[in-house]
Amino acid sequence: MVHHDTALQTTIARTVELTGVGVHSGADVTITISPAEADTGIRFVRTDGHAGPAIPALWQSVAATKLCTVLAGADGRSIGTVEHLMAAFRGLGIDNALVEVDGPELPIMDGSAAEFVEELELAGLFPLTKRRRMIRVVKPVRVEINGSVGELLPSDMPRFDITIDFSDTLVGRQNMVFDLTPGFFRKELARARTFGFLHEVEMLWKMGLARGSSLDNAVAIDGDRILNAGGVRWPNEFVRHKALDAVGDLALAGHAILGCYRSYKGGHRLNVAMVEALLSDTSAYEMVPAPAAAKIERPVERVIADLEERV
Ligand SMILES: [Zn+2]
Repeated sequence: MVHHDTALQTTIARTVELTGVGVHSGADVTITISPAEADTGIRFVRTDGHAGPAIPALWQSVAATKLCTVLAGADGRSIGTVEHLMAAFRGLGIDNALVEVDGPELPIMDGSAAEFVEELELAGLFPLTKRRRMIRVVKPVRVEINGSVGELLPSDMPRFDITIDFSDTLVGRQNMVFDLTPGFFRKELARARTFGFLHEVEMLWKMGLARGSSLDNAVAIDGDRILNAGGVRWPNEFVRHKALDAVGDLALAGHAILGCYRSYKGGHRLNVAMVEALLSDTSAYEMVPAPAAAKIERPVERVIADLEERV
């Protein structure tokens, strides 16, 4: 990947196409990701049936957050499971792109963002001439939903402090703290897969949901066993995936957030509510030009050392 001035907005250097199964419908879906001009942001378009209106990847477009993050356009048609691709855009620092989708949801791929990252990196980043802006948190904002708690706090780094707590299962309590950089994202988050408990998946199957869900695209847990033959990719793959989801959902703010996002037992609903709470309070944030690379990047090794101490 070409290194560039991180103060500038980016898009991708060429069009990328990916095909995979939709986790909820079980049907094949193809997405085409194309370069877009500065200040376009990320936009989704449904291309099956009549060509739908462009759906801006912003919290105002969110239609549902129950099993995945779903965006809907002005014509009411929706596109689901956008969070892992959104995480790939945010993680790699891609500000502008058009995503065409020929079905109701994005492909699940292997349940992580790995294949999106791989394809986007093969395409390469293309720097644009306009300055990138960030949302700087200037005062704490807090959201509580049914026992899950989210906070956005002022921080001079885009920082995440994610805790999950499934004390009664083999997942247990896991915490992860990191500063988001492309290097960290690629190495430590992109490959973390979604996970589910077998009894929940069986219930979803009965309801006609999660039809594309399998051991090829999720870590499945049954009691104190992991059903996937290869096991997990890291002992704390679960919290890493929740962190990946948080990166993707927070990207629905439309710009990188310069602040610390702390979440306890969070999920898509809490993440999106957090973005809404921040951006609905104009005294809680300000728009600032993105600093150049030196201020954003820290050596990945140091971040990982911090991480190992904390986990
Ligand atoms: Zn996820």
